[in-house]
Amino acid sequence: AEPLKDTVKQPAVAARPGALPPAGLDARAVSAWFGSHKVLDRVTLAMPAGEVTALIGPSGCGKSTFLRTLNRMHELIPAATLAGEVLLDGEDIYGTGRRLTDARRQIGMVFQKPNPFPTMSIYDNVVAGLQFTGVRVSRRTKDDLVEECLNRAGLWKEVRDRLRQPGGALSGGQQQRLCIARALAVRPRVLLMDEPCSALDPTSTRRVEETILELASEVTVVIVTHNMQQAARVSQQCAFFLAEQGTPGGIVEHGPTPALFGSPQDERTADYVAGRF
Ligand code: ADP
Ligand code: MG
Repeated sequence: AEPLKDTVKQPAVAARPGALPPAGLDARAVSAWFGSHKVLDRVTLAMPAGEVTALIGPSGCGKSTFLRTLNRMHELIPAATLAGEVLLDGEDIYGTGRRLTDARRQIGMVFQKPNPFPTMSIYDNVVAGLQFTGVRVSRRTKDDLVEECLNRAGLWKEVRDRLRQPGGALSGGQQQRLCIARALAVRPRVLLMDEPCSALDPTSTRRVEETILELASEVTVVIVTHNMQQAARVSQQCAFFLAEQGTPGGIVEHGPTPALFGSPQDERTADYVAGRF
């Protein structure tokens, strides 16, 4: 299938050697179930290459589930099933013959709770994902990659003299940026972030937001956030999810972030962005 021409931008030119340009993601009529419990109903959303898309909405409306369907992470959950398509640059990641590792390699993930390998060194945390890429790299290349990824995650200056210390010795905000560096080392084309700042203090949150802004155009970002100001600061487009009483979650409204916040078309969106529920 072809990507939606009117919504998927041409990818930007690769800024780094060896890196593929960011890819667009297109979710088409994605439904999800846990056992017989339907939690997502026909979600369709184009996430343009090189842009930041924010997913907002109350707890339990299926944002995390939707995010996990975008890199087949939900397959790790017993009894989770899915219908619909997720196109990565026009190719269905669920298509026959598409390998699971292929999707996960191109589509990285950062979670709410920072989860570096706590006893592994900062250096080894960054290169940890490389083993899944099947690419063998020299020590020199690894050194360069570690510096580049820590730099892009805004952490290099803070840790350059302590790369052999364990990841668990860092502060929460630093650990989250280490997780971003670890995700970037695999050179993903899309980075999924599930409430990456919920466990962080305001200063660390700002650092992560700066990182997201710098990443944009090199990597496509999809971020779940409960923080409206954050969505406004980092995203170009925004989707409002809702699961009304007894119904599965879905998108009520989506569009350019300033429009969604400034002139929402649906009353429920207006209520939500104004903090009325
Ligand atoms: P959000 O991220 O918007 O808070 P989730 O995607 O986590 O929402 O949850 C959507 C719905 O799916 C909720 O009703 C939740 O209880 C259910 N759910 C989430 N994870 C699981 C799971 N592993 N097993 C069963 N149900 C789940
Ligand atoms: Mg969630």
